[in-house]
Amino acid sequence: MECYESLAIAGVQALQPYQPGKPENELKRELGLDKIIKLASNENPLGPDPRISHKLPSLFAELARYPDGSGFELKQALANRLNVRPEQITLGNGSNDILELVARVFLQPGRQAIMSNHAFAIYQLATQAVGADCVAANPTDGINGPLHGHNLQAMHELVSERTAVIFIANPNNPTGTYLPSKQLKSFIENLPENVICVVDEAYFEYVEADDYISAMDWIVDHPNLIITRTFSKAYGLAGLRIGYSVSSIEIADLLNRVRQPFNVNAFALAAARVSLLDDEYLSSSIKVNQKGLYQLGQGLNTLNLTFIPSVGNFICCDLERPSMPIYQSLLRRGVIVRPVENYQLPGYLRITIGTESEINFFLNALEMTLSE
Ligand SMILES: *Cc1c(COP(=O)(O)O)cnc(C)c1O
Repeated sequence: MECYESLAIAGVQALQPYQPGKPENELKRELGLDKIIKLASNENPLGPDPRISHKLPSLFAELARYPDGSGFELKQALANRLNVRPEQITLGNGSNDILELVARVFLQPGRQAIMSNHAFAIYQLATQAVGADCVAANPTDGINGPLHGHNLQAMHELVSERTAVIFIANPNNPTGTYLPSKQLKSFIENLPENVICVVDEAYFEYVEADDYISAMDWIVDHPNLIITRTFSKAYGLAGLRIGYSVSSIEIADLLNRVRQPFNVNAFALAAARVSLLDDEYLSSSIKVNQKGLYQLGQGLNTLNLTFIPSVGNFICCDLERPSMPIYQSLLRRGVIVRPVENYQLPGYLRITIGTESEINFFLNALEMTLSE
């Protein structure tokens, strides 16, 4: 018998598939529970922007046609909003798609991508899938930066001739930590120009910290920068799969060469445009998240649990014991959260900010679980 695994390229043999949050329906089937709350995938608890459901039915008639592969109208709308040129934008089937395009354009066996330990899992997957090597930088330790945050000094020290790409999540998932813009800017200024630096701003809209701004304005001076954003989080469109990057036109042209011609579907293109019409939904997402961050933080304090201060739409909580049994017990109570063992954070659980009542339901379930 042929062992097909041995035929796969080395990077793929070593890959662990991405572990998504457990779907609600799966838990319903397994446990026959009526009430299930899912706070496992950093989805928007408001549900999608209601204006989108009015818009989408008119698209059914068009579904036999391919979508606009250039995403012309959405790129125009984004370019206006972001004050960049449409040619700088690359649309992706989620921003994950963009991360893979970057890996396919700039990485290959023999080249390295640098990322922080505890950084978003997709960086490693995308890197290994094309046969390149991941180099993980030690995180900050609570003294030189937040506990488990990105350590730019450590990342800088790892740069070598083999370094082709650096992935930085700002803010990062699953830690919820962020890099103050001054620090990040000086890191980028000191980076060799032939190293591509991806700044993943999936949670950008949520951040209220005064010392945080987007890295997008720096592209003019640093054409090795690629900023990625998504409609999956604050815009509530995770199920449609749409994200984008802003980069120099030259890099956008390279990403476009490996992009599937119709990588973004017609619903996603239309829905994203509707969400850019005004910011009412976005503002309420942000407001609900700020309240929820506070509520969940307070609740965890009351349970004497510590957590990594977060600027995203989730909190990574230190249980000070293995998280898997707690995760399992919460499942039996109808609450899905995310263990983050695969991020080398075995004592932590990541909890997405839900509605007020979802957070209360979670806190009650956690309290009962901890007193078992
Ligand atoms: C959720 C998330 C994304 C977005 O993924 P999509 O493919 O756009 O849904 C990207 N980066 C990070 C760090 C994330 O947590």
